[in-house]
Order: sequence, then C-alpha cells, then structure tokens
Amino acid sequence: VSDVEAHLAANFPAYVEELKAFCRIPSVSTDPARKADVLRAATFVVERLRRAGFENVEKVATAGHPVVFGEWCKAPDAPTIVVYGHYDVQPPDPLDKWVTPPFEADVRDDRLYARGASDDKGPLLIPILVAEAFLTLRGTLPLNVKVLIEGEEESGSPHFATAVASLRNKLGCDLVVSADGAMWRADLPSLTIASRGMAALDLTVTGAAKDLHSGRHGGSAPNPVRALAAVLASFHDADGRVAVEGFLDGAVPPDPRIREAIAAVGFDAGRYFDEVGAPRPEPLPDGETLLTRQWLEPTLELNGIFGGYTGPGTKTVIPASATAKITCRLIAGQRPDHVFAAIRSHVAAHLPSGFSFEFSRHGPGTTAFALDPELPALAVLEDILGEISGRKPLRVAMGATVPIGTVFKEQLGAPTVFFSFSTSDEDYHAPNEFFRLKSFRDGLVAWARAYEALGRRIK
Ligand SMILES: [Zn+2]
Repeated sequence: VSDVEAHLAANFPAYVEELKAFCRIPSVSTDPARKADVLRAATFVVERLRRAGFENVEKVATAGHPVVFGEWCKAPDAPTIVVYGHYDVQPPDPLDKWVTPPFEADVRDDRLYARGASDDKGPLLIPILVAEAFLTLRGTLPLNVKVLIEGEEESGSPHFATAVASLRNKLGCDLVVSADGAMWRADLPSLTIASRGMAALDLTVTGAAKDLHSGRHGGSAPNPVRALAAVLASFHDADGRVAVEGFLDGAVPPDPRIREAIAAVGFDAGRYFDEVGAPRPEPLPDGETLLTRQWLEPTLELNGIFGGYTGPGTKTVIPASATAKITCRLIAGQRPDHVFAAIRSHVAAHLPSGFSFEFSRHGPGTTAFALDPELPALAVLEDILGEISGRKPLRVAMGATVPIGTVFKEQLGAPTVFFSFSTSDEDYHAPNEFFRLKSFRDGLVAWARAYEALGRRIK
C-alpha cells in the first residue's frame, strides 16, 4: 500500500463527514427556489478545491448556475487531465418515500443515504480528496489536474457547452476523466464507452379556443386529450419500438464489445421487473433483449401528460388543450435536429383533423457518445479496476445521457473516459438514493492509482 493509499484509509472517517456535509446542501438545480442552495454547493466545491491545494479556483458565471474551475499544473512534463463532475442534484420527490429525509445524510449498513450522495457528490469528491493526499504527502501530483464541476447536469446542462467554450484556453488537456456516470453493477466493475443522446420536447394539442362545458358541448366540440392520446399511441409499434418514420436515420452500429458485455452480464429479465416493482409481462422478454434496448436502441418516452381538470372530484370540462412531455434517448449517428423534424412530421401526419399543435423543443438536444475502443487510457483504467476488484472489467454502454463526452470532444478535442464509483442501483433518481461507502473507499484507491498510471501513460 502506497503512502497515499494509507493516508486515504486513515482519513476515511473524516471524508465521510465531509461528504455528509456536502449532501446536506439541497442543490436541486432545476428548482428556482433552491438557487441559493445551489450556489452554496458551488461554494463548498470552491473551498474544498482550495483546501486540497488547487490553484486559480473560481466560480465561473454562466447564464444559469456557475461552473467551478480549479487546477494544479506544476508537472510540466506530465500529461494533463480534466476531471469532470457536477455538484447539483435531482429533485428529492416524492419526499414521503424516503426512510430518512433526503438532505439529512444518514449512514446505514455502510451506505450513505442522501439525494446526490451517489450522483454525483460522493464520486466527485474522490478525485479532489486524492489530489489533496498527494499534495499533502508529496507536495506534488503525478500529472496535471484541472477540475471542472458544473451545477446544471441534472437540468440537462443547458449552459455547459458555452461555459466550456469560454474556458477553452484554460482547459487544454490530453484526456477528460469523468467522475460522473455509473458502474453497471456493484460486483461487476465496468467502464462506460458509450451513452445515449437526448432530445426533449413538449407537444401541445389544441382544440377550441377555451375550455368548454362538457354538457353543453360534449359530442360536438373537439377534445384535445383524445387527439393527443391518438397521436401518442401512434409513436410505438406493438413491441414498444419507435414507429416514427425517419427517427432512426443516420444511426450507426455499436462497438461489438458492448454486445459481448450484454451477453456477459447475464441480465435477469424477471428480476429486473421485480426490482422496478412492475408485474412481469407475459411472455417474459429475454434479458439480452431488454439490455440491448436500454443500451443500444433509441427511445421515445412519454414523461408526463396533462390537460383539462386534474384536481379532486369532478369538473365537467372539455379542455382547450392537452400537453405531453417527451424525451428521446438517441444512439450514435442520430442527429437531434433530424429527430425533432421526424417527430414533428409524424405528429402532423397522425393528428386527427380539427386540431392544431405546438411543438416546443427543450434546447438543441445532445448526440450520443461513443469512445474509441483503442484509447490507451481505457486500458489503463481497466487494469486498475481489475486489480481492485479481482475481476476483468466489462466495457458497457449507458442508457442515460451524459452530454459532456460530446461537449469535450467538440470544444477541447479530448476524449472522455468515465471513472465513477457510483453504481447504477443506487437509486440516484429515486427516493432513498445512497452511495456505498465501500465504493467510496475503492474509489479513493482507484483514483490514487489512476493519477499515477495516467501520469506515466496516457496517449
Ligand atoms: Zn450525474
């Protein structure tokens, strides 16, 4: 065990306390009422970076929540990495489903329960603590480390690309290492080499110019809830695959090693439905099919639908309009612009006559991310994970969207590897989010080794 690893182990109880303090800040970026808390989390990161020994630490203003930057660049002959993470968190709702309050940070069974503990406060704290250990013990790092921690990841990173562009001359690097992302399973180490992109929109269907009485007008007036339901029902075929013409245009086949990983993980379909709490469908699809759908196929998901009266009791109304909130997960090669256009044409073709519709995009969308499988840093990190876990890591894809891979490629010309110690079962978008303290401990060791190994070999 190196001096650094011994130091990290000795200080672990203090690190847990720090993570608890960080998790107690309710930095919900999407909630305007939490703006001051989000800023407080940014300040926490700034202070933590300074205390660790990073220099030129600052909050960089964006049109939304600030990005935090810091660097330690005193190893002129060594490579340079940018470490990425995010200090904002998902909303904690539904609050009544939490065993202990979401921003209390309770440790039970070697797990820290709090909103944001796993995504991404625990994982992002690791590389900072490891840098501090090196600087404390040795006065130097094995490579140059720049840190970029954003505050809007859980809101779709609307200003992140602009922020990275504005910091371009400060962020020059050989590699980006993301402390965000997730391991596939706690007992199966993995590296993410692909993630799906995203296109989000609202679709509003309008009938009459105002709400109408369903007695006076029922039967004659157009009902937009019915029209919207008809359009939504036309988006998928009987198997649940997207049936929008042109939706898949440009899609390219995935790296074959991802299919190997899908076969290797032994995804248990029945257990999957049990775990999400849904009845098992009959016939039960096989696990490889389900996982292929999660990782390698695009989706068009209906996230919410509303219109007319939704309160208690009844109201005899024919609503003037009805809205669906929709997000699509995209695969490599699909372009968000083209996807939006395909959906719009599909709606125009399938909306019953006598209605109008409005189609509003949430931002420009994100293309999918795919890493070059030959990237040397990938092998370096694989070796480290293999050493720590005693198992050969898998190369996996991720159904979720992490737009940063695309942003860093475009803005810095650098590849992004994901080295997060979050695990995908840690309920990070659900009640009772937790972070395994074992992952916290393993992550500290892994990042300490990664700094050294990447300092030697990166390109
Ligand atoms: Zn995250």
